[in-house]
Amino acid sequence: MTTHEQTHTAGPRRGRQPLRYAVIGAGVSGILAAIKLREAGAGEVTIYEKADRLGGTWRENTYPGIACDVPSHMYRFSFEPNPDWSHHYSPGSEIQAYLEGVARKYDVERDVRFGCELTRCEWRDGRWHLQTAQGPLEPADVVIAATGVLHHPNVPEIPGMDDFAGALFHSARWDHDVPLDDRRIGVIGTGSSGVQIVGALTDRVRKLSLFQRTAQWIMPQDNPPFSEEDKRRFREHPEIMAQMFEQTSRLFEENFANAVTDRDSPQMKLIIELTRANLENSVADPELRERLRPDYQAACKRLIVSPNFYQAIQRPNAELVTEPIERIEPGGVRTRDGRLHELDVLVLATGFRVDRFMRPIEVIGRGGIRLDDKWAARPSAYLSISIPGFPNLFLLNGPNGPVGNFSLIEVAEAQFAYVLQLIEEIRTGACREISASQAATDAFEAERTEAAKRTIWMTGCRSWYLDDRGIPAVWPWKFTRFREEMAAPKLEHYERVPRTG
Ligand code: NAP
Repeated sequence: MTTHEQTHTAGPRRGRQPLRYAVIGAGVSGILAAIKLREAGAGEVTIYEKADRLGGTWRENTYPGIACDVPSHMYRFSFEPNPDWSHHYSPGSEIQAYLEGVARKYDVERDVRFGCELTRCEWRDGRWHLQTAQGPLEPADVVIAATGVLHHPNVPEIPGMDDFAGALFHSARWDHDVPLDDRRIGVIGTGSSGVQIVGALTDRVRKLSLFQRTAQWIMPQDNPPFSEEDKRRFREHPEIMAQMFEQTSRLFEENFANAVTDRDSPQMKLIIELTRANLENSVADPELRERLRPDYQAACKRLIVSPNFYQAIQRPNAELVTEPIERIEPGGVRTRDGRLHELDVLVLATGFRVDRFMRPIEVIGRGGIRLDDKWAARPSAYLSISIPGFPNLFLLNGPNGPVGNFSLIEVAEAQFAYVLQLIEEIRTGACREISASQAATDAFEAERTEAAKRTIWMTGCRSWYLDDRGIPAVWPWKFTRFREEMAAPKLEHYERVPRTG
């Protein structure tokens, strides 16, 4: 027991305190936090959103073909099932419309300050002092960092990038003013974004060149529409949607989410077989097939799911370029073999900087400690939620969470239910500051790192899951363990500073 706890247990309990909450980001997690805080009657809530629209990842990613590879009836708030999904897997625009619809229904926008980009959050005198480039904002008692994971585009440094005479943009910054039809398009990157773009664009453009640095295993996907009759049944009998959720969730969890945390599981073997059969059966030309064949185990990188990638890349107007990129020139991309691939548009589907979280906001915790220093080696947080020395600051979809294998909406819901219990400690006056203890965080990290070594993500591939040590920066256990951990905080793993006076 820490000194803080000893003092705390002797301290008086009071009635509920009205608190002021700052939520950073109006994406999935921020919308959720606002709804749940209000529902709990927790106090005054403000969401600070740097953009002029909510939706987070689904607002920012609007590239052709964008869709979610988590089944539609799983990728929704549990308290707002949606009978109107058009397909078993939803297109991005439908998810954005759904989020906006939920926000409208709960009048979330009332509390959102759009165009408000925080630059600094400092813990001083028992509160969070927030600032934008324009000046200080009202201080908050509690900060919820709902800033997302895949947020800051990774723009590679390829020589000559500024010389390109055509249009060049990142997949998460799609320029819809640039015409595509009948033009020559280059796509760099074969992650989920690049693969979806290729699947959607090849039919429309004169020539599509996909620059592949690393081949990907692709899981086939069947994505039939829901009929009007299906939707009517979902509307009239919401319990059918609940059953679908249960069923899909169970299958998803058993066959995928749990499989990736146990590289020797029979489900993992099935994933290997299915992706291999997809490649063998879908790609006719043996030479192309070999160039598309990865040299690592399926699901080591995030598994790609696609209904149409192999068909698209075999079209006569598509070319898979495996020769490394030498530089970018005004006319296109020059590869190491000396060939110039002439292009009108170049898309960087090159992923994201995944170690940022709420940064570049300057976050300063107790005693002036800077988050940049705290995370100098790499980002970490106890249970991915709380950082020692940063009291009353809670992260949703923070570092080392279950990003690799589940619906991030469900993850955020479980995390927020947990966070509400920590907030309750402050609201009831049981304490005025709460943050994970360093000892609990170190123990969690040590156990997590050991477990991560047994996952499929560490079987020899380059991927955004891996940290600077090559260890997967994700939740390495089954989802049941995540649910159990999120059910109730172990308060002995927290440092609680009592109210004074
Ligand atoms: P990503 O998976 O990180 O893929 C980036 C791609 O760019 C990789 O193929 C990488 O090659 C390549 N690349 C990076 N720098 C390069 C360079 N300098 N030269 C050549 N190639 C380079 O990014 P993403 O496709 O945007 O996907 C990120 C994550 O977003 C996904 O893993 C997924 O979690 C999420 N996402 C989900 C969906 C969905 O359906 N739910 C859709 C899109 C995205 P290497 O492989 O060689 O590093």
